[in-house]
Amino acid sequence: MAHIVVIGGGPGGLIAAETLIQSGHSVTVYERKPTLGRKFLMAGRGGLNITHSEDLELFLTRYGAAKDYLEPLIRDFTPTDLRNWCEALGQETFTGTSGRVFPKALKASPLLRAWQDRMEQSGVRFMMQHDWRGWNDDGSLAFRNAAGEAQSVTADATILALGGASWPKLGSDGAWVAVLAQEKVSISPLRPANCGFITAWSGIFSERFAGSPVKPVTITHAGITVQSEIMITANGVEGGGIYALSSAIREDISAHGSATITLDLRPGISIATLTERLQAPRARQSLSTYLQKSGGLSPVAIGLLREATGGKDIPDQSPRALAAMIKALPLTLTAPFPIDRAISSAGGVEWRAVDSNFMLRQKPGVFIAGEMLDWEAPTGGYLLQATFATGIAAAKGVERWLSGQ
Ligand SMILES: Cc1cc2nc3c(=O)[nH]c(=O)nc-3n(C[C@H](O)[C@H](O)[C@H](O)COP(=O)(O)OP(=O)(O)OC[C@H]3O[C@@H](n4cnc5c(N)ncnc54)[C@H](O)[C@@H]3O)c2cc1C
Repeated sequence: MAHIVVIGGGPGGLIAAETLIQSGHSVTVYERKPTLGRKFLMAGRGGLNITHSEDLELFLTRYGAAKDYLEPLIRDFTPTDLRNWCEALGQETFTGTSGRVFPKALKASPLLRAWQDRMEQSGVRFMMQHDWRGWNDDGSLAFRNAAGEAQSVTADATILALGGASWPKLGSDGAWVAVLAQEKVSISPLRPANCGFITAWSGIFSERFAGSPVKPVTITHAGITVQSEIMITANGVEGGGIYALSSAIREDISAHGSATITLDLRPGISIATLTERLQAPRARQSLSTYLQKSGGLSPVAIGLLREATGGKDIPDQSPRALAAMIKALPLTLTAPFPIDRAISSAGGVEWRAVDSNFMLRQKPGVFIAGEMLDWEAPTGGYLLQATFATGIAAAKGVERWLSGQ
């Protein structure tokens, strides 16, 4: 019986551990935090969007450049398989109106509890508060336990499932990048994904509107339009619509120093209808009242118009020009928010650094799973789906490698 060490007690590491115990191996999971799956639990706070119900062909396109790598793994462990897996743990799932799939309990905690119990019953051992630091000179795994003592551990195979670098207080902080770089593993730098962006609000706007949602709104960037809410923050924008476009916006900023998105603040009506409405006599109304009443704009939308004119007057003399501005308001973004506020990370261990078993070419016997690998995806359940699929693929890779195939 081989002894396999899985480092990282998030969904990627746990599903790998479960797959391996079912094949009759001895499995120990090492986790630096006192409890498992902290990011998974956080993901469940607003409703655990475990996967998506859309057609698999469309689903696979969500992984962009990593599609070719992830496709065989997701075909091997599909969204339906993931739903069945939840249901086997007593967590029925449902499809929301957007096609996103959630456990009926919405939270991740009942699922995680049932999962941990099942794994313990099958013999998986858990070593909490063990921080992996790399390898000792003799090749053993180097850990620090809660008391700060060094511990050496040997294994027939190791799976690293250490996550990305977003929300580091939940456990995954990307410290592994330096350890693997020392081993000459090629790593694409970890970058914020599904993140907000900085923009230069005036003090007045920021003070008045930070925390306000802008809705309804459509956001267009590089020819792609999404309709979803924007949240104003003290120094920028975040929220579902921004996250959906965040990968392309981030790359645009990286190439050109800034990116411009275009907001339609009245997506429900045509420019002709809006122009007509704005022809209503303003009489003694203030510009704000007129824009609210005739234009149907919220105070934050009016604030955005004022921000766009940079202190100059909003063109209220020409209903047509005003309608055009409301329907296509440019907003310049200068940098992504820091990775510790992002939902997920782009970048990670490059695909060329692992073989078809997900084993590091530079480090035989060491396999990679989950968000550590170089892929990204929008929110919508795609992150967890790929995390589970890569965890299972790495576990199967271990088995193939151990059996000498
Ligand atoms: C706020 C938020 C909401 C989200 N919502 C969703 C959602 O609804 N749907 C969705 O699909 N995805 C969502 N995600 C993303 C999803 O949670 C992650 O993609 C997923 O958890 C990645 O799993 P993982 O196992 O690869 O890494 P992680 O879950 O990050 O787990 C890695 C584990 O490794 C441990 N670790 C790291 N380094 C060491 C070390 N040196 N030694 C020992 N242990 C270590 C960490 O403590 C952690 O427990 C959300 C993320 C956030 C932050």
